[in-house]
Amino acid sequence: MPRPLGLRSVDTTILARWLLGDDPAQADLAESLLREPSWISQTVLLELGWVLHKALRLPRDIVADMFEQILALDTAIIARQERMAWAISRYRAGADWGDVMHLAASSAEIGAFATFDRKLARAAGPDSPILIETMAKLYFYYASMNAGKSTNLLQADFNYRERGMATMLWTAAFDDRGGDRPIKSRIGLGADAHLFDAETDLFARIGAAHAVQPLACVLVDEAQWLSREQVWQLARVADRLGVPVLCYGLRTDFCGRLFPGSGALLGIADALVELKAVCHCGRKATMNLRVDDSGAAVHEGAQLEVGGNERYVALCRKHFTEALER
Ligand SMILES: [Zn+2]
Repeated sequence: MPRPLGLRSVDTTILARWLLGDDPAQADLAESLLREPSWISQTVLLELGWVLHKALRLPRDIVADMFEQILALDTAIIARQERMAWAISRYRAGADWGDVMHLAASSAEIGAFATFDRKLARAAGPDSPILIETMAKLYFYYASMNAGKSTNLLQADFNYRERGMATMLWTAAFDDRGGDRPIKSRIGLGADAHLFDAETDLFARIGAAHAVQPLACVLVDEAQWLSREQVWQLARVADRLGVPVLCYGLRTDFCGRLFPGSGALLGIADALVELKAVCHCGRKATMNLRVDDSGAAVHEGAQLEVGGNERYVALCRKHFTEALER
C-alpha cells in the first residue's frame, strides 16, 4: 500500500531552477512546488552553494541574496534555521560556504569542531555556533651540523611574516655564535630571538605573548638543548594554544648520543623531518665529529661544548667511526 504523501523534500535542481529562472518551464514547476511546505536539507543547501559559487561562479553577494531568498520562503522548512542565517552572513563576509555549513550542521551536543585550517576560526567570527579547535603540530627538524637548520628556520619565519603573521623565535641562551643576532645562519641571514635556558617556562612565556598578539607560529633553534620538560611545554603550546611549533636541532652529540631535547622531540613530536647534510664521501652526514684545535677527533668530554663550524665536522657514520679509531 503506498504511503500517504507527507512533507516533500526538494532537490538542489528545484531550488537552482527557481532561483536562476534559466529554464522557464522548470522554473514555473519549481515555483508551484515551493508554494507547498517543502523540506530543504542541509546537504542540498551545501550542494546549492557549490553549484552557484563554484560551478556558475556567481558573485558572493548574489549567492548570499539567493540563500536569504530561500530562508525567507514561508513554505520552506529548514533544519537549524537560525544557524543558517548566521552561515549566510559569514559566507557573505568571506567565509567558505562548506566551512560555515559544517559548523551550522553540528548538533547541539557537539562541544568543538576540530580542524587544521587556521583561517576557519577567523572566518567564522565571534558568533560561531560551536567552538573551533585548531589543531597544531609540534615539528622536529633534525640533522647533523651544517645541514642548514638555521637557514631553514629563518625561511619558515620569513614565510609567516611576509603574510603579516606574528611569530616568536627562540634559541639557546648560551649559544652566542650569532653575536648581536641570536639566530644566525651560515649563509649570513640572522634574526633576533628570545633566549631559553634550563629555567625558562616556555609554555608560560609563549602563552603570555600569544595573549598580547596571536602567534601564527613558534620557531625554536638549537632545540637539542631543550629539557624534556620544555619539550612537553612546547607540546602544550601546540595542543592547548593551537599554535604550531617548529623545533630545529641536532639529533646526536659528538659521541653519537641523543641530546635530551632531541630525544624528547623524537619521542613526542607530531612530525619528524630530517634535513640532510653531506659527508665528504657523498653519503648523508648523520654524525657530528668534534675536533680539537689541531683538527684531531675528540673522544670524550661534556655534551655542552658550544662552538662554530670549526669544532665540528659532519660525517657519515662510517667516516665518523674511522675518524675516532685513528
Ligand atoms: Zn662518509
